[in-house]
Amino acid sequence: VRFPVAQGIVGLFAPKDQRSVQAVAGVTLDVMRGETLAIVGESGSGKTTLARAINGLLPIASGEAWFRGNPLHNGPDWTAVRREMAMMFQDPVGSLSPRKSVRDLVLEPRIIHGLPLENATETATQVLAMAGLGPQFLARYPHELSGGQARRVGVARALSLNPALILADEPTAGLDVSIQGEILNLLNRNRVRDGLATLIITHNLNILRHVADRVAVMYLGRIVEIGPIEAVLAAPAHPYTAALLSANPELDPRARRARIRLRGETPGLRDRPSGCEFHPRCSHARPECAQRAPLLVPSAGSTHAACHFPLQNDNGSRP
Ligand code: SF4
Repeated sequence: VRFPVAQGIVGLFAPKDQRSVQAVAGVTLDVMRGETLAIVGESGSGKTTLARAINGLLPIASGEAWFRGNPLHNGPDWTAVRREMAMMFQDPVGSLSPRKSVRDLVLEPRIIHGLPLENATETATQVLAMAGLGPQFLARYPHELSGGQARRVGVARALSLNPALILADEPTAGLDVSIQGEILNLLNRNRVRDGLATLIITHNLNILRHVADRVAVMYLGRIVEIGPIEAVLAAPAHPYTAALLSANPELDPRARRARIRLRGETPGLRDRPSGCEFHPRCSHARPECAQRAPLLVPSAGSTHAACHFPLQNDNGSRP
């Protein structure tokens, strides 16, 4: 039996004012201990909104979210929740206070959560070592760090409380390919060693095969496909997933998927299409697609897809 670390995120996340829009809707997913779930999609697909709602930085307007048996939708003690749920923010340098040294930055989570600091410098050295940085960095300030080093400090802060779940928002953004691999290896190492569950938000599909056990594809704030990484890469069931993957031929196991070009632009959140919200851009759309919204249901492979007419071939076409 596998017990989820985070589970059942269902419903809407939206600010309360009159001008707010529904950013994420009807999302259901779970993340297991030791598992890495990647959430992918274009800019504006709701990925970051979802992570922020899970971490309590945005309100959950309806539905339920659970973390290790605790309801997040009922106004939990967020300090206690964040003791076990760490967030890595998108901007590695901007997310670090410029007035604090690396030593103080990596100790900050322990101070916030009231953990003992008997030998602060030694503790900071150990925490920094978890992210592959030596003690020579303790006295530096964020403006003295490269993007990769700042990201490592972010990893050290995230790992410092030995969390059960890390929410990593674009963990490789702005980094060289070689540094990207090092950051992903760091996260992976802790997953294997400590059973850390990781939810990675990314638009960088190239990292998927290296880190993800499962992938969820988001479009306009909804999950349109979710499944084991190999199954989704080999035979995407949703036309949007197929289009995303076709733009990254190196992800195609057989390198024979033709490039699928999407029609038009992603609509605004205030201008959602009827029925299947992807239908104005979908080359497989039929008249009923504009009438009825598809549910996320098992597809022919081992994935779930929200499509009335899921793809059934591994080249992104119908049989
Ligand atoms: Fe395309 Fe119709 Fe499937 Fe939507 S439901 S993805 S429009 S085929």
